[in-house]
Amino acid sequence: MALLSGFQVKIKTTMKKNIFSILLASAVILPFGLLAQTAVKSKTKTEQKPVTAVLSAKSSASIESAFTGSGEDWFIEAGKAVFPALPYSYEALEPVIDKSTVEIHYDRHHRGYFNNFMKAVAGTDLEKMSFYQIFGNMTDFPAGIRNNAGGFYNHVLYWSIMSADGGGKPSGKLLDAITRTFGSYDAFYQQFNDAAKTRFGSGWAWLSIDFKTDELFITSTANQDNPLMNTEGKRGFPILGIDVWEHAYYLKYQNKRADYVENFWNKLNWQEVQTRYNDYFRLADRLNK
Ligand code: MN
Repeated sequence: MALLSGFQVKIKTTMKKNIFSILLASAVILPFGLLAQTAVKSKTKTEQKPVTAVLSAKSSASIESAFTGSGEDWFIEAGKAVFPALPYSYEALEPVIDKSTVEIHYDRHHRGYFNNFMKAVAGTDLEKMSFYQIFGNMTDFPAGIRNNAGGFYNHVLYWSIMSADGGGKPSGKLLDAITRTFGSYDAFYQQFNDAAKTRFGSGWAWLSIDFKTDELFITSTANQDNPLMNTEGKRGFPILGIDVWEHAYYLKYQNKRADYVENFWNKLNWQEVQTRYNDYFRLADRLNK
């Protein structure tokens, strides 16, 4: 693919030394845990470019079919991605999101993005790239990759952070971070809802962790873009996302997007959002931010 040639050269020339640095870092990280990770952070940050090209080489067998919506998913090679099962029944999100909407959204829209993405990467160098790497270099790729990679990945996050018994409020370190950044939970809630309600046309609203500051921020993106993409002005690690395409709510709410957004919180699984928050700090050393 002529389109990728410049990018391929960059990968190939940096891959050998990166494999060595990753293996070296892993040998230190695995036995000594979090403290050791912190200790090697400054060193590995500058050496791992592009970090994701080699992560799958480290343990491809164990991550081949592990697409669960966790941070680890970012390091799966695109060619090895699997379409994950919905983590609950179609009716589990009633009455906030009706059974028909979940069924059509998951089984047709989401699956369609996945199938189209897998077709687009088949036989190309993207098969060997991680999702994190593809998102981080999205400007190198055609719109079909951007729309379908985002469409696949974004919906995995969306389904995984909801549950039948969702609702409530965050706690612990995540609540501390929300309070630190937005002033209060209520202020955060207001700002997130505003982002979701005012996104013009189709898109998403996100709560993410800023790659530069490690602090939270809220944005909205158009179409199937997400905060991981290098098409975004402010980039970060999304831990909470709401789909505001009409296909996400129109059967039940028609044009009342605001009602869907406000009801969404009643099915939000804060524990899963907290897991993704923790993922960031667990995986930060492996990110080429
Ligand atoms: Mn959708």
